[in-house]
Amino acid sequence: MRGVAKGGAQRHVRCRLAETARHGLMMPDRRPGLRIESVRQANLTSILGDLHLGGSASRSELVARTGLTRSSVGALVGELVRAGLAVEERATSDGSPGRPSPVIRADALGNVVLALEVTVDVVAGAVVGLGGTVLARQRLDRHRDRGAVADTVGDVVALAQRLERIHGRPIDPLGVGVAAAGLVRRPENVVAIAPNLGWREVPFGDLLAEALPYTAPITLANDADAAALAETRRGVAVGVDDVVLVSGDVGVGGGLVSGGHSLIGRAGFAGEVGHMSVNPDGRRCRCGARGCWETEVGEGSLLRRAGRSPDAGRRGVEAVLADADAGDAAALAALADETRWLAIGLGGLVNVFNPQMVVFGGFFGRLYPYVIDGLRSELSHRALAATAAGLLLVPSALGPDGPLVGAAELAFAPLLADPLGEHRRPSAAAESAGDRADP
Ligand SMILES: [Zn+2]
Repeated sequence: MRGVAKGGAQRHVRCRLAETARHGLMMPDRRPGLRIESVRQANLTSILGDLHLGGSASRSELVARTGLTRSSVGALVGELVRAGLAVEERATSDGSPGRPSPVIRADALGNVVLALEVTVDVVAGAVVGLGGTVLARQRLDRHRDRGAVADTVGDVVALAQRLERIHGRPIDPLGVGVAAAGLVRRPENVVAIAPNLGWREVPFGDLLAEALPYTAPITLANDADAAALAETRRGVAVGVDDVVLVSGDVGVGGGLVSGGHSLIGRAGFAGEVGHMSVNPDGRRCRCGARGCWETEVGEGSLLRRAGRSPDAGRRGVEAVLADADAGDAAALAALADETRWLAIGLGGLVNVFNPQMVVFGGFFGRLYPYVIDGLRSELSHRALAATAAGLLLVPSALGPDGPLVGAAELAFAPLLADPLGEHRRPSAAAESAGDRADP
């Protein structure tokens, strides 16, 4: 991430944090005052984004990492410290000669978001501080008959109360990010359809806003989109601009990143790779269609092929893998089928999106060591040689935490796009407004 040198040629800031929340941040504006203001805002975003994702740094390191001048970094850090977003601390000497430089870090405790994940089997949450510090976390496995909307809202409220007890203080989040296992219509925060939860047109964002005791804005996203964002920010795909994440559990989802941007489509539904039609003679899918990729590679189909109940869940999958380790023919055949169907879907995705990396999330991450060799060989004749060349196939680094980490990043996006903007909590904004009135 690079900043914009004040007074120099105005370069486009290649800053995904800003782009995520505010398209057109650096569109030229003919009014000089506003232009300077937008440059300052972009530079604050650059410094705070760097501290948030890159960790603590000395002023010299921030100069090197952002490309801003030393005096700009000094002034901007001062503003962030006065606004309660960053802390500058005297560094302890590491024994090398000379006076150690102070270290600047994001103020995690003073700036938290609530990240939530809702799937068929799990309601999970975390209190995450600026800089990505997880201050409290909780994961509740739940029965599949708890999936009704009202039950889910109740589970989320109970989870937030537990998180508050673990955190040891009231939570006053800057934002609430929610990763949900369904098609999410943005920006209305509506789950348009979640076949595996049985939801249709559920205004989940509004329901949570009513039920939770916070005034913070809620950002709802599809869980695989959130996981893909998380892998590019803090996981295995940091620095990779073209990524396809495929995530399997009860359902199969996908998150697409192209040219460094999340691809979410017109309404937010892009990436529904689980409902690509791959088998005209296949099983009926929960979405109503027949032969969706999900019906061939989802958890249930692996279990069924291995002769187990399709509802046996993650424990059933572990049992299949243990059988495969022991050389059981039915388990090995089920994994071979899984590999072939994975390659059939992935071959198409690789041809369409030409990713540099495919990330395997959810239970696909668990299957990875069992399927990767077969997958490489199948893909060599199911994708064009040109699109498959140099393709990296990797398991998710964040594993089951991916959607939560992504939900936290979505909740931080408005703050990072405009660190001193009006969206901040009234109390914090009033304090920093006093500071900014100073000459
Ligand atoms: Zn389907």
